[in-house]
Amino acid sequence: MTSHHQPPRIAVFPGSFDPITVGHEAIIRRALHLFDKVIVAIGHNTAKKTLFPLERRMEWVKFALQDKSDVVEVQSFTGLTIDFCRKVNAQFILRGLRNSTDFEFEYSAGQVNRQIGGIETVLMLTDPQYTHISSSIVRDIFLYGGEFESLIPKGIHLTTDEP
Ligand code: ADP
Repeated sequence: MTSHHQPPRIAVFPGSFDPITVGHEAIIRRALHLFDKVIVAIGHNTAKKTLFPLERRMEWVKFALQDKSDVVEVQSFTGLTIDFCRKVNAQFILRGLRNSTDFEFEYSAGQVNRQIGGIETVLMLTDPQYTHISSSIVRDIFLYGGEFESLIPKGIHLTTDEP
């Protein structure tokens, strides 16, 4: 290695992924044009209730990005996102931006994470066709027996059972 060698650009994409949607998948794929590696970090703290088990949520993200398994990692974490970033040597936090509500939240979180953690937040605009897709909408449709298949990556079979 020469002294010009740059460290790999690593982004953490944090979220609940309860479950992963086609909106999340598109953001991860587009982010691979900017970063050498994207670590999907599935937060779990006991206070926040999720519908799907952590093991399933991790398995579904891995499945959706299996063709990119050399550059996309899936991990779970507890605690502050900036602490997790430090642990995995990530310089960036990646977040998707759907609307002004997302922006309000990301703006203050991003300012704080740079101020106290020295981590840059990169906000990526959602594909227009995915603006209205969220995990919570998928959960509602799942619970009421509707057709959610087009909202999640192909080949994923949602279940609340532990693996
Ligand atoms: P959180 O509970 O932290 O918002 P989510 O799993 O809901 O976690 O979302 C993780 C990230 O993915 C967030 O940055 C969110 O804005 C983004 N995201 C969610 N849905 C979409 C979508 N349809 N298009 C683009 N980004 C999205």
